[in-house]
Amino acid sequence: MILLVDMDAFFASVEQMLHPHLRGKAVIVCGDPDRRGVVTAASYEARPFGVRAGMPLAEARRLCPNAEYVEGDPSKYVEKSLELLELFLTVTPDVEPFSVDEAFLSLVGLAGRGDTLESASVIARDIQRRIAEQHGLGASIGIGPNKLIAKMASGLQKPKGITALDEEGFRRTYWPLEVQELWGVGPKMSQRLNQLGIRTIGDLGNAPEPLLQRTFGMIGPQLRQAAWGRDQTPLVPYHEGVDPKSMGHEVTLPEDCRDAEFLEGTLLRLADQVARRLRSEEFAARTITLKLRDFRFHTITRQKALPVAVDDHLRIFDTARALWKANWKGEPIRLLGLSASALEKRGESGQIELFVSDERSKALQQALDKVRDKLGEASVVPAGALTHRRESGHVPFGLMKRKDPTPLSKERDTKDTKRRLRGDPDDPA
Ligand SMILES: [Mg+2]
Repeated sequence: MILLVDMDAFFASVEQMLHPHLRGKAVIVCGDPDRRGVVTAASYEARPFGVRAGMPLAEARRLCPNAEYVEGDPSKYVEKSLELLELFLTVTPDVEPFSVDEAFLSLVGLAGRGDTLESASVIARDIQRRIAEQHGLGASIGIGPNKLIAKMASGLQKPKGITALDEEGFRRTYWPLEVQELWGVGPKMSQRLNQLGIRTIGDLGNAPEPLLQRTFGMIGPQLRQAAWGRDQTPLVPYHEGVDPKSMGHEVTLPEDCRDAEFLEGTLLRLADQVARRLRSEEFAARTITLKLRDFRFHTITRQKALPVAVDDHLRIFDTARALWKANWKGEPIRLLGLSASALEKRGESGQIELFVSDERSKALQQALDKVRDKLGEASVVPAGALTHRRESGHVPFGLMKRKDPTPLSKERDTKDTKRRLRGDPDDPA
């Protein structure tokens, strides 16, 4: 059995726990009200007013003018999250943190304890009680034979619920619901499913597999399996989550961002960094992983396996962008990460050398690498990444330091880019 422990209104509850005068009141956690105009979290007392995470702050103030507005402090929530992780590890060693306020726990290693819905529920109740006693916080727990069911069950009864479902119970509960309720199905995919006449999760379960395969490719059959409550995704214990055979970079944005162009530019820059590191250590990668963390600290990682190992930034970028387009739903983004794994030593697989047409671009790439070895990372960067170099407080290339202390520019139009490309005094390019 697998549990998904989901903290109830986590940020708001942590504030209420730390500040007794906030208890029992509508609490709305936001970023710096001048900089970030969205609600990060709302306590259960604020929810009847219609306040939701992600809503513009101005709208929240209109709906719930008497709420307590608290500026969030991410470090506090992360610290609490780590304390909860310690608690979970006393239950089972197999814990996979899923976001700052959610974690999967596998009970498979408990020698038969917790291998039925009933016995797993007893363990869940104990976890819930300890979270309340030791941390003064509420949690809802979903229980199921796999991650999909555990995750979806955790949302059925909130706050402080415990919901256990087997595959049959899953189908009974979810088949009448709209297909968008299925974990992993976003608005775009549900639109395409609707166009195929698939409206409910039950419709998806009964849809002909060839149709799904034609429309969605490899994930088509998986979608249908998910509708049946079947999921093979392994739980990756956090101590195994770091793959030594991968190379990646990530960037925390100076402020939550929903500007698609800026975010894609950031991805391009990350792709360039990863590609450069692969080449400098003579690796090529067969798997590209995108990591997205949104303003609520919900983190997803999505992977794509490639038919051949790659080490150039454009192919890494194309792959990352495809993952990005499939998974970003427009929510403000806090962190972007890109990593390359399934590494092969260059030359180990003849496939890397198979593409003769790539020789020219490879020669170009090597020439550019040489320039950068001599002149530093900032001497050559992908033009697409230049559009926002100034705006990011993060130092994207190991060696590049921001010399220019001028305030962050809001200009991101092409004219500005062209001007920089023509020759900015600070810009070695
Ligand atoms: Mg939660």
